[in-house]
Amino acid sequence: MNRQIPFADLKSQYNAYKEELDKAVLDVMGSSMYIMGPEVEKLEKNLANYVGSKYALSVSSGTDALLLALMAYDIKAGDEVITTPFTFIATAEVIALVGAKPVFADIDEKTYNLDVEKVKPLINERTKAIIPVSLYGLPADMDKFYELVKGTNIKLIEDACQSFGAVDNGKYSCNYNSLGCTSFFPSKPLGCYGDGGAVFTNDDKEAEMIASLRNHGQIARYKHKYIGINGRLDAVQAAVLNVKLAHFKEEIAARIKIGSDYTAKIKAAYKGDISDIITPYIPEGKVSVYAQYSIRVKNREEVAKKLNEQGIPTAIHYPIPLHIQECYAGCGFKEGDLPISEKVSKEIMSLPMSAFLKADDQDYIVEALCKAVLETK
Ligand SMILES: *Cc1c(COP(=O)(O)O)cnc(C)c1O
Repeated sequence: MNRQIPFADLKSQYNAYKEELDKAVLDVMGSSMYIMGPEVEKLEKNLANYVGSKYALSVSSGTDALLLALMAYDIKAGDEVITTPFTFIATAEVIALVGAKPVFADIDEKTYNLDVEKVKPLINERTKAIIPVSLYGLPADMDKFYELVKGTNIKLIEDACQSFGAVDNGKYSCNYNSLGCTSFFPSKPLGCYGDGGAVFTNDDKEAEMIASLRNHGQIARYKHKYIGINGRLDAVQAAVLNVKLAHFKEEIAARIKIGSDYTAKIKAAYKGDISDIITPYIPEGKVSVYAQYSIRVKNREEVAKKLNEQGIPTAIHYPIPLHIQECYAGCGFKEGDLPISEKVSKEIMSLPMSAFLKADDQDYIVEALCKAVLETK
């Protein structure tokens, strides 16, 4: 019988906390408090405590977290926002949605995160913000970006949608001298059972603004100071997150172990030249939560096909860099402009990853991967 390995094992996670989760959700159902309310307030305290920030504002998704950040900074038509093309579409989508222009800078070939040296030459008087993404759960070089914008009017926003729980020299992602935006999409390191997200800040004014903007710009009942959105989190999702957050430290420890085990096992098992499989690079001092365990191989499609045939799902995060997506054709970029992003997007491939991945399933994946890479060389 063939094995079928889940890509992000949400089912095992649910089974592990089933009693607590079922009770928490049913309690909300019986409470008649479905939008905001005590579960949401409790979650916001828990989230802020976790990363050490003064505020955590829960919102309806990671995309809305990013949108609200740009709205809070009054970024609009005529403005430019610099970001990475090697990310999920939402990072750039919100820039365009507020009417501003996404300006893409290339990534670092080892970390896959936005390269501060590539950003520097793109800064001009229209630059209003920079959005580095802490991709695959590895914190971006937020300190370097902070040095770059310090003393200017340029705002810094961390797209931490994949990196809640990650650490850089003792400091938690979402709390790096910037607005931190995360996502609780089910398969993210901390996921709910629908859409959800949060914005983190240490600034009283920013917190007040985001809290108002997510609730139709309201400052008191039916008194609207700003033009906002419906960007609130619902209580069922908050209750799920409160349960999962209590287990999160253990899950993160498991993810980190599974991530580093993958690398060690691949290096030990591969019979060819080890440079055929590029494993994740985690710089000194940084801790990745492995939102994805992504490797690079030359013949990706063939390798993926062989793995899929053996019940091992794979994914590509992301196959087309944003600067050459059709929807950004008007931004003035063409193929060849950002060569590292373009090269990496042709080679990158994510393997099954979750805190519940079993060691023998991981051995099976590694063995199949090493064989497939060797055979397709
Ligand atoms: C998931 C993700 C988002 C969007 O989050 P949603 O909650 O799905 O809206 C934004 N940026 C990155 C890098 C993501 O991975």
